[in-house]
Amino acid sequence: KLTPTSDIWMDGKFVPWDQAQVHVLTPSLHYGWGVYEGIRAYPTAEGPAVFRLREHLQRLHDSARVYLMDPGHTVEELTEASLELLRRTGLESGYLRPLVYLEYGTMGVAPRLDSARVAIAAWPWGSYLGEKAEQEGCRLMVSSWQRNGLHSVPPLAKATGAYVNSALAKVAAVRAGYDDALMLTPAGHVAEASAANVFSVRNGVIVTPPVSDNILPGITRDTVITLARDLGHEVREQSLTRSELYVADEAFLTGTAAEIVPIASVDDRPVAEAGCGPVTRQLRQAFQDVVHGRTSDPHGWLTRL
Ligand code: PMP
Repeated sequence: KLTPTSDIWMDGKFVPWDQAQVHVLTPSLHYGWGVYEGIRAYPTAEGPAVFRLREHLQRLHDSARVYLMDPGHTVEELTEASLELLRRTGLESGYLRPLVYLEYGTMGVAPRLDSARVAIAAWPWGSYLGEKAEQEGCRLMVSSWQRNGLHSVPPLAKATGAYVNSALAKVAAVRAGYDDALMLTPAGHVAEASAANVFSVRNGVIVTPPVSDNILPGITRDTVITLARDLGHEVREQSLTRSELYVADEAFLTGTAAEIVPIASVDDRPVAEAGCGPVTRQLRQAFQDVVHGRTSDPHGWLTRL
C-alpha cells in the first residue's frame, strides 16, 4: 500500500499529494503511451543518497525518445527536481517514480505527442518481493506469457503500456502460488522476471541474458556486472535456457525495487544453493555496501541531497 508523502513534483511545481491529479481522458491512461522510472534513495552516514540517479533519468529520456516524446526538462533539471522533492518529503530512504505522460486533448491511437507532462513522486518502499523471498529465495514459474518482443513493444524502453505484459505474467504466477514469473523470448531463451533481470551462476561463471533477448537493460544488472567484475568474477552476457537455470548452482534477480534476491526454485526445481549461495551473498553485500555509502564510490553512483 502506498504511503503518501507531502508533495509530488509536476512540471516544475510542487503539488500536495492529494491534489496531484490528471484528467481521466489522458491518452496515456487509454493507450498506455507513457514512460517512467523507478529509483531508490538509501540512508548513508552523510544523509540520504540517490543511487544512479543520472543513469535512471537518462534512461527516462531514452524511453521518451523511443516514444517520440520530449519531456521538456533536461536530465539536469529532473535531477534537481528529484533531489528537491526528497528534501521536501523528508524521506531518509525511499523510491522515486518519475513519469512522462500525455496531456489530454486528443483521442485515438495516434495521440498528440507534443503535450508531454512530467511528474515525480517519492514514497517509502521496503522489500519488493517480501522478507521471506529475501531470506529464503523466491520461487519462480516460467510464464506462458512471452516477454514483449523486439518487434512488438520495444523491451528497452520503460513504457507504461509495456507493463500489461509484465502484469499478466506476474498476476498468473502469484495466483499459481509463486513469487514471480520468469518470461521467455519466442526462441525459448530466458528474458527476465516481471520487473527484474535474471542471473545464474554455474561452475563459478556468472551469466545473464543479453539485451538482444528482449530484456530491459537494468541499471541494477549493470551495477551487479560491474561489482562482480571488480571482485574478479567472470561475467558473460549470454542467452540462457530455462533448463540451464534448473541446473544452476545459484541464481538471483536484480532490480531497483527488488535489489538482489536469490532464486530458490524455477518451476519447482530447487536451485542448488537455494537460500543464498556464496556468490549471491558476496554480491548482495557489495551492493548493500555501495548503496549505503559504506565503501568508496569509484563509479560515482551516489548523489547526495
Ligand atoms: N526488467 C524489467 C521489466 C523491469 O521493470 C525492471 C525494473 N525497472 C528491471 C528489469 C530492472 O531494472 P533496474 O535494475 O534498472 O531497476
